[in-house]
This record gives sequence, C-alpha cells and structure tokens, in this order.
Amino acid sequence: MLTSICGINWGDEGKGRMVDLLSEKFDIVCRYQGGNNAGHTVINDKGRFILNLLPSGILREEVVNVMGPGMVIDIKHLCGEIAKLREAGIKISPKNLKISDKAIITMPYNVLQDVMEEDRLTRATGKPYGSTRRGIAPVYADKYMKKAFRMGELLNLELLYKRLPDIVDWKNLTIKAYGFEPVTVAEMKEYFETYGKPLADYVCDVGIYLNEANKAGKNIMFEAQLGALRDIDFGIVPYTSSSSTIAAYAPIGAGVPNLKLNNSIGIMKAYSSCVGAGPFTCEYFGEQAEKLRSLGGEYGAATGRPRRVGPFDVVASRYGIRCQGADEIALTKLDVLSDYEEIEICTHYTLDGKVIDEFPFTDVLDECKPVFEKVKGWNCDISKCRKPSDLPKAALDYIKLLEKLCDCKIKYVSVGAERDAYIEM
Ligand code: GDP
Ligand code: MG
Repeated sequence: MLTSICGINWGDEGKGRMVDLLSEKFDIVCRYQGGNNAGHTVINDKGRFILNLLPSGILREEVVNVMGPGMVIDIKHLCGEIAKLREAGIKISPKNLKISDKAIITMPYNVLQDVMEEDRLTRATGKPYGSTRRGIAPVYADKYMKKAFRMGELLNLELLYKRLPDIVDWKNLTIKAYGFEPVTVAEMKEYFETYGKPLADYVCDVGIYLNEANKAGKNIMFEAQLGALRDIDFGIVPYTSSSSTIAAYAPIGAGVPNLKLNNSIGIMKAYSSCVGAGPFTCEYFGEQAEKLRSLGGEYGAATGRPRRVGPFDVVASRYGIRCQGADEIALTKLDVLSDYEEIEICTHYTLDGKVIDEFPFTDVLDECKPVFEKVKGWNCDISKCRKPSDLPKAALDYIKLLEKLCDCKIKYVSVGAERDAYIEM
C-alpha cells in the first residue's frame, strides 16, 4: 500500500503532525523532494520537534525512514538535526534511516548564492522571491546543470575530489560576478570530511529497499514538504519552491518510479497562511490578520518569520486538491477558529467585475480581489473533542461546507497540535 501525504495549500498545513499521527499505520516513511527550507513541527510524548530534513517517521522507533533521490540534502544541517534528536533520546541508525545514493548534496556555496541573489533582487527591484536562503533553488539548478554532487559520491571521496576543483572554479565565476570572495577547494573538502563522512553509512540504493518492502506487503508513506501552491510547475511561480511538491511526483522522488500510489491524502488547513512573498488573494491585514496569526501561532517553523494569514480559500484549495489528486482530506487546526462568532470564507475571486473560481495564472492572480462570505462560528473550545458527535453543530456545518465547496471527503479533523488531538470523521 503506497500513500502520499501532501499539502493542499501554501505549506505549513500541519503535514508534520498528520504524518506523525498516521505513520503508526505505516512501516516506512519517505521524503521525496525539497530540502531544509521547510519545517515540520511534531509534538508527541517525547517532546516538541522541528524536522527540516528527516522524515517525520523518525520519531517512531519501528518506522524505517527514507530520504529519496528527489531531495536536496544540506549535510551539515542533517548532521545537526540527527545530533539534536539523539540528544532527545531518539535512536537513529542505518536501520531506521536510509538515504538515497542519488539524492543531491546542498553545498555551502549554494547557500551563499541564494543569499547573494535575494539581496541583489532586493536592491535591484525591491521584490525578493522570499527564499528561505538555504540554497535550495541554486542546488536544484546545479542538479539540472549536472554540476551537483550526489550522496552516493560520499562512498568514494577520492573520485569526488577529482571532480571538485573544476566545479569550484565554475561556481566561482558566479560568486565573483556578484563581487563576493571565491570559495576554495580546501573549504569544500572540509565540508565533505566533516559532514559527509558521518553520513556515508546511511547511503544506499533506496529503490531496491523500497521495492522489496513493497513486495513484502509493507505500507509505505510518502511525505511532502510545502504545498501544491509551492510546486515548481503548478504553484505561484516564482514564489514557489524549486521542487515538485505534488503527489504524482512521490514515487519518482522517493526512488521507485515503477510503483503507483494507492492513495493520496491532502492536508488542508481550516484557514489560510502563506509565508514569504507572492500573490495571496485571501490575505487579511491589520488587526484581523494579527488576531488570526496569534490564534494560529503562524510563525515559520524553519525561519520564525510571521506568516501572512487569511480565511479559508475555496479557489486555491480546490486547485490544490486537483493538483494533489487527493482522495481524502485531513482538515487541520480547526480549533484555531474557535474564538470567532462568525467565520469568513473566501468563496471566489473577482477580476474586473468577473467571477473567478478557477485558480488563475500567477500574473492574473495578482489582480484578483477576494470575495468573503460569513458563516456561523461555534465560539467555544473544541480542543477536547475526539469524535464527530463531540463537535458543536456549527463546527460540523463548517466541515461539511468545506467538503461540499471543495468536492472532497474530509476524513480527519485536527483540533490541537498534540498527537491525539484529532477526530476521525
Ligand atoms: P507543516 O510544515 O505542514 O508540517 O506545518 P508546520 O509544522 O509548519 O505548521 C503547523 C503548526 O501548527 C505547528 O506549529 C503545529 O504544532 C501546529 N498544529 C498542527 N495541527 C494543529 C491543530 O490541529 N491545532 C493547533 N492549534 N495547532 C496545530
Ligand atoms: Mg512548515
């Protein structure tokens, strides 16, 4: 059984906590795209964890975790993440963590490039892309230029070091053009020695492992980072990530292009949030925004940046559900809306007086205005509810309305950040 868990919106929907919850039913959890640019927050009996690179299944002892070839891995960051979890008593070994030999290594100069370019954009246009400055776009560019290093090369550093000087020369052409100090071969060697060597034991052909596991009837989950609207092809380009965040990419990015998904679970938030720049049609401003942001604790897990917030966006969510091919939805953070007498929903957009209800191309999106409609709130604490019948009628009505507007079944509803704070509908 192959299941993907993907974001329907702009990311930060609560994927980490849903994967942590649902991973109980899975033997294997795979990350298949992205790098340490996003953060999953997981709160369970062992503590509060922010995972940037490691699959969320790492917090369950019986689960095997796979980092697929679609990922870009900052090896320094990964070493740090592993060390932090070990301090908290989490066991990590090649038995429960397998890293694809084909996964790409994010280099320190990729991080530098990201910073140089965001700063240049800010100076030149006043409009940076809102990058997390962790080198993700530059390292994916290197991958497609075929100039990147792959995790499998850590198993034969002598060969890698033969390739290194020319790549450093090539990269320095760019770095010097930005007016920065060139990087050196010695620094890059040290990066591989310090942070690459300790990871070599985890590196393998994860495709062989996953195919065998699948044949043996194991349940495999693919965990995405970010959401549909951040996908490099289908998202709000250029304010997207540089990877494929959609479910259809999961088997490829995990190392098993021969396998097909059985189920796609979409994680959708009961309201909207968007970190960084770009069109965000349903956005709240001023006091309205501050209230929702503080109720939802909407500050970036990876960066601490305050997130932009707004009500539930039907147009964007329906598009997200389509992109993810979602068979069912986990609706998260419903408890955050408990303080409202009336809850707004962005039901559609308008453009020059015309109704827009299909998510438009980015340029058009910029011009769209949101239309909000009000529904009755429940205005009481629902964080202790554990079954549908515990929920007040207005909350049930809100869930049913979203189901109808988005034309997709809502199977889970979360009402708190803790592992057990959810309802199966
Ligand atoms: P991800 O990137 O999709 O994994 O989501 P993040 O971890 O960036 O953001 C989700 C945030 O909401 C985290 O701080 C979670 O602890 C928190 N959270 C998740 N589910 C719930 C919920 O049902 N209710 C509340 N109040 N918080 C939640
Ligand atoms: Mg996040």
